[in-house]
Amino acid sequence: MKGLRKITPYVPGEQPNYSDMIKLNTNENPYPPSPKVTEALKNFNPESLKRYSSVDNFELKKALSDKFKLSPEHFLIGNGSDEVLAFCFLAFFNSSDPLLFPEITYGFYKVWADLFHIPFKEIPLKKDFSIDLDDYRQNNGGIILANPNAPTGLFQPLEAIEKLLSENADVIVIVDEAYIDFAGKSAITLLENHPNLIIVRTLSKANSLAGLRVGYAIGNPQYIRIAESIKSSFNPYSVDLLAETLATAAIEDTDYYDKITEKICQTREWFIRELHAVGFDSLPSKTNFVLSTHPKLEISDLYQHLEEQDVFVRYFPTIERLQSYLRISIGTQKEMASVLTIIKDYLSQLR
Ligand SMILES: *Cc1c(COP(=O)(O)O)cnc(C)c1O
Repeated sequence: MKGLRKITPYVPGEQPNYSDMIKLNTNENPYPPSPKVTEALKNFNPESLKRYSSVDNFELKKALSDKFKLSPEHFLIGNGSDEVLAFCFLAFFNSSDPLLFPEITYGFYKVWADLFHIPFKEIPLKKDFSIDLDDYRQNNGGIILANPNAPTGLFQPLEAIEKLLSENADVIVIVDEAYIDFAGKSAITLLENHPNLIIVRTLSKANSLAGLRVGYAIGNPQYIRIAESIKSSFNPYSVDLLAETLATAAIEDTDYYDKITEKICQTREWFIRELHAVGFDSLPSKTNFVLSTHPKLEISDLYQHLEEQDVFVRYFPTIERLQSYLRISIGTQKEMASVLTIIKDYLSQLR
C-alpha cells in the first residue's frame, strides 16, 4: 500500500487495575484532588454540555492569570500538557537546524519530533545524569528540557537555564515543568527578560488530575498566539467544559495542594533515606519519584518481584544507562512503607 505512515509511538507506563495494588509507575499523585474540585463537580450542570466548550478557555486563563500575576494572554490551555507540547513543537520548531534535547528525558519529545518531521539531536547526559548545558552551545532550531528532568528527577539551577536562554535568544527554549511543584524553582521569573522562554505545566502530577487531561503553557503573548493558532488549526475545543471547570477549581486552591505536595516531599526524603540504609543509591530527586539502583541486585528481578506483589514501578530496559535502575513514584507514606517492607523481605531472602 502506498502512503502509509510508519511511526514508533510513545509507550506510557501500564495502567493495571487491581483493587489493592500499589501503583507507582506513572508518577500520578496518591492523594485525591482538592475538595474544591469535588464541590465544582457536584455543582456542575450537565445541561451546560449541550453547548460547545469555550475556545479561549478564559475562565481557566483568568485563574492562572491571578495565580501567576501575568495577563491571560500569556497562557495556552490544552488537553494535557502532552497536547500543549505537541502544539508548541508545531508552532516553534520549524527550522532546518536540529531541535536539541537530552538523550535521557521525557520519551515523548523524540516521538513528536519524528511525528512532525522535525530534525533533532539528542545530547548525552553527564556521568552523574545531570545535563551539561555547554553541550547545547551549537547550531540549533530550538531546545526542550524537562526541569526537573524525568526520569532522573534532577533539577537544573535557574542560573544555568538563564544562561541557556541568553545564548539561544534567536530560538524558542521550552522548559517542561511537569514536576516543578515538588521542590524545584520555576523559570517563570525569567520570562520578563527572556521572551524566547516557553514554560509548560500540567495538572496531572501535583494537582492529582491525570485523568482530567489539562495542561498549559506560559509564555510571551506574541509566541503564545502562534501556538494558539496551531490549536485552532487542529482542535479548537480540545479542552472540554467539565475539564475547564474542574481545573479552574484546582488552580484556585493553592493551600490544599501545598499541603499534599509537602507530604509527598517528606515521604520522598524518608523513602530515599530508608532505601539508602539497605544499600540502594538514588539520585537526589526534586520530583514525586526516585530513580534508584542497588549495586548487588539484578534490578529486573526486583521489578518482577514487586509486580508479583502487585507493586507497579517503572523499568526502562531499552535505555542502556537505566538498565540497573527503577523509577519509583512516591505514593502515600503507608504505601511506601509497604513497598519498603517488600523490598527488605526480598533482600533478606537473597542472603
Ligand atoms: C507526565 C509528564 C507530561 C505529560 O503530562 P500530561 O499533562 O498528563 O499530558 C509531560 N512532561 C513530562 C516531563 C511528564 O513527566
